[in-house]
Amino acid sequence: MILTGDANALAAKLVAAGLLTPSMLPGPTELVVGGFLRARVVTHLGEQFLSSGQGGFRVYCPAALGPGGTPARLSNTTAAFAGALTRWRAGGPRKMDCGCGANHDLADLHFRPACGFAREWIELLDVGCADLSQAALDVLDGAPILLRRG
Ligand SMILES: [Zn+2]
Repeated sequence: MILTGDANALAAKLVAAGLLTPSMLPGPTELVVGGFLRARVVTHLGEQFLSSGQGGFRVYCPAALGPGGTPARLSNTTAAFAGALTRWRAGGPRKMDCGCGANHDLADLHFRPACGFAREWIELLDVGCADLSQAALDVLDGAPILLRRG
């Protein structure tokens, strides 16, 4: 999944670059190494939390990251995040009180594997390999990429 604020605009850029066809099939220029079957634009009225669907999910406090962004051992806030996510989904604020003393926006936390919040994204279905081509990375210009199983 490619998270974005405007999935239709991003899809148009991918089509213009030859990475997708207008019918959301693989274009003449490789988007994903190993190819994919098709893509689709997904939009929701409200923001969604998108997990990787993989096991071993961990959440870390952004204030306790070590050199190179490596999470410090004691900064694991997975349990607090789970409660805060449940409250947010029930209509509460997208925030949580952290052990570091701060009240973090849930989107500012560090997720391993990567997760994110978005209202719109482009899903690539039946991806051969998770590596994006350089042409795709150039068009995406830093847009968050989320790998999801299933
Ligand atoms: Zn914290």
